[in-house]
Amino acid sequence: MSTKKIILVDQDGVLANYQAHHLALWRAEHPEKFWIPLEEVSDHHMDNLYPDDLKEALRTIPHRKDFFRNLPIVPGGKAALEEMLTSGHDVYICTSPLVIHQFCVPEKFAWVEEHLGTKWANRIILTRDKTLVHGDILVDDKPNIVGIRTPTWKHILYDQPYNRHIEGQQRLTWKNYKDILPL
Ligand SMILES: [Mg+2]
Repeated sequence: MSTKKIILVDQDGVLANYQAHHLALWRAEHPEKFWIPLEEVSDHHMDNLYPDDLKEALRTIPHRKDFFRNLPIVPGGKAALEEMLTSGHDVYICTSPLVIHQFCVPEKFAWVEEHLGTKWANRIILTRDKTLVHGDILVDDKPNIVGIRTPTWKHILYDQPYNRHIEGQQRLTWKNYKDILPL
């Protein structure tokens, strides 16, 4: 290993498949209504792409009890976290809770505990502003991450259909991360 890095890894859309679960619930509950396949979703907040009369019903699904608890895991994420940690890096899960936090916050911890283990639950950094967190690398699916400070970390996009319009960047997945991360 060369130098030890602080690596921040986002939770939703990177370790937990938020969008797939959101869409699955929408389709199960409103089978007759408009929907957009995941591969065609071009906005990090998929509700922005829906007709106005459906936005509210779609937007409130993640506010419910058990939404975050039941997110499916992104394959390869746990192994990558473990490997980066074993390689000597400081690895943390850096995640922003919803403003409607009653279920989101405890369920994010419970999800990490169940799918990744207690060790990783102790490595969660919850913040609404990731620019306040010190680090070398932030792996995140959100295209533009801004806050009150200029971040110390380099943002590396986790590849998702909704961030493919960002040009000039390599996008990381849990299959190619060893080629993309400057470790
Ligand atoms: Mg995310």
